[in-house]
Amino acid sequence: MESPQLSSLYQQLILEHYRNPRNKAELDEKTVEIHMANPVCGDEIRLQLRIEGDHIAEAKFVGSGCSISQAAVSMMTTRLQGANLVEADALAKRFTEMMHGDETAAKDKTLGDLRALEGVSKFPVRIKCALLGFDALQEALKKEVGEVGGVGGDLN
Ligand code: ZN
Repeated sequence: MESPQLSSLYQQLILEHYRNPRNKAELDEKTVEIHMANPVCGDEIRLQLRIEGDHIAEAKFVGSGCSISQAAVSMMTTRLQGANLVEADALAKRFTEMMHGDETAAKDKTLGDLRALEGVSKFPVRIKCALLGFDALQEALKKEVGEVGGVGGDLN
């Protein structure tokens, strides 16, 4: 059996976010909150967003679980502050594609630090860990504003 390794640089970035999570706090003025759990691994997050008009004014989370799940949501929330809803939805879809092994997505620089998690796509049981925050984000966007981008939302 091949046993793929995350590059050490990426591993450090993941651990750094895990140890010093960004935006990990209760958000008082939230407009939407989504709870997501990954019982297989024991990961849990509550993503809290304050959506104003067409953008995310603020994003925070609380949660616990493995380093991958917590680092992914930490990285995600850094990208969501002030983000346009359409961009946030596109980011979630792009990240999901990368985690499902799409190589074009893996090279997409718009993913930024999130590309550190690309190696996780080679560990099927951990993919759900990495996707937890983005699944919550997509739920939140659906709940708050309906399918972002209108009728084109289900083209995958
Ligand atoms: Zn996990």
